[in-house]
Amino acid sequence: MTTPERRPLVAGNWKLFKTGSEAVALVRELGQLLQPAPRAEVAVAPVFTALVTVHDALAGSEIKLAAQDVYWEAQGAFTGEVGPLQLKDVGCHYVIVGHSERRQLFHESDGDVNRKARAVLAHGMAPIVCVGETLVEREAGRATEVVVRQMNAALEGMAESAAARIVIAYEPVWAIGTGRNAAPSDAQQMHAQIRSTFAGRFGQTLASGLRVLYGGSVKADNAAALMAQPDVDGALVGGAALAAASFCAIVRAAD
Ligand code: PEP
Repeated sequence: MTTPERRPLVAGNWKLFKTGSEAVALVRELGQLLQPAPRAEVAVAPVFTALVTVHDALAGSEIKLAAQDVYWEAQGAFTGEVGPLQLKDVGCHYVIVGHSERRQLFHESDGDVNRKARAVLAHGMAPIVCVGETLVEREAGRATEVVVRQMNAALEGMAESAAARIVIAYEPVWAIGTGRNAAPSDAQQMHAQIRSTFAGRFGQTLASGLRVLYGGSVKADNAAALMAQPDVDGALVGGAALAAASFCAIVRAAD
């Protein structure tokens, strides 16, 4: 369970689901179900086109707005991209970077993830940096090596002052959208490794404040056991974030 100085964070990654009006209906329902206020901080990441309407619907709410991706340049001739300046402008607090779907389907490299995370920090937002091994890598005994490599690449060249805002999400690729989740003890082991890798670069004090979320088939019935682990500081939730009741049950598991 997260220590008092690390408030848990539960973030919903809505992926390519929900139109603007559906997104607004979902956040309205979340707003009602999340009374009284939960212990966890809550964030939702709709598609780019719904960010403005969701931001407006969240007025007066504690729920934070997140984007699912970003390009690292603030402006320029980059047709089709959305940069950190634009995300800041529409009220994003968090930006997910390096999600495994971006790495696998859109060939994002470790270097791209680093550029994105740094751009998010430079614009005063907080990146949720996703790391995680594939099934092949896990079965080959390379899970830790892969995650440490992704961590070191993502953190390259970051200033200590900005690093305090980073959130890491450990998302084993084989657990995303599959219904298979990491055993709480395996998640704990990797989260502790992530914290110690972070400590190696930025020191113990900053590392003890780092929030490391678990992601990969988190549901109402497994969230509490995962979040009870000492280095699991919340969850990044995909499928179960698309309905208010299942998402709120996960948020409440952190109470
Ligand atoms: C995700 O997309 O980040 C995710 C964890 O998805 P799911 O919860 O559906 O496995």
